Amino acid sequence: MQSAARDHALICRGCWDQMHMPIPIRGPLAVPFRVCGITRSKMNPNICTICERSFRYVKKQRHISANATILFADIRGYTHLSERMDAVTLSDIVSAFQDQCAQAIWAHDGIVNKQMGDGLMAIFNFPIKNERHAAAAITAAIDIQRRCASVLEDMKAHGAAFPIDALGVGVGVHTGQVEIGEFSTFRSDFTAIGGTVNLTARLESQAAGGEILVSDEAAAQAQDLVAPAATRLLVLKGIEHPVQAHVLAPSH
Ligand SMILES: [Zn+2]
Repeated sequence: MQSAARDHALICRGCWDQMHMPIPIRGPLAVPFRVCGITRSKMNPNICTICERSFRYVKKQRHISANATILFADIRGYTHLSERMDAVTLSDIVSAFQDQCAQAIWAHDGIVNKQMGDGLMAIFNFPIKNERHAAAAITAAIDIQRRCASVLEDMKAHGAAFPIDALGVGVGVHTGQVEIGEFSTFRSDFTAIGGTVNLTARLESQAAGGEILVSDEAAAQAQDLVAPAATRLLVLKGIEHPVQAHVLAPSH
């Protein structure tokens, strides 16, 4: 699909991929749905709130096992700077980061599943299906680094009153089996859990500002993107064996 068409899907791409059900999310046909509270999701503007809140309805079960790629990103140097910066500047930085990450993730059909202040978690291959989900996530990660580097350059050029060079974004990408579904008894938002998700979070925690750490499993699915990258052997908290990561630093 052309990216222009992808940016403005008329029907929810998640409901279509998961159920072959056409749920209008743009144009006149979407109006009655909006009246019933079915709108575009904040996780990705090309899916709807049925995808986001009605997992059990969509999949007819509480959770499913699926192959997916998980991406974690967060702002390096944030905790350090947050002690030295006023709340307005801090929130400007966080919203610029969240915006740029979301644009990059949406452009590659991922969903921003969780936002945690200076960090986020994205899922690729659910609910929008994508055979090349590892490549999509790695391309989104490269896009995140380029976009965030350019925002930081802009802030620097406009004479930001804090040390920009201390800031950077760290990203982790890993592919594997995850459990996707609703795991909370009091909320109906879906998410992914399992070892794949934990390992991605650990990888991301080891990424320096400007770096993307890609696991072997994700790299194997996207060799064209990762092949020339250096590797690093990491001992990760809670993971028994050392993990090899492919190190990409696109904005350096
Ligand atoms: Zn939907």
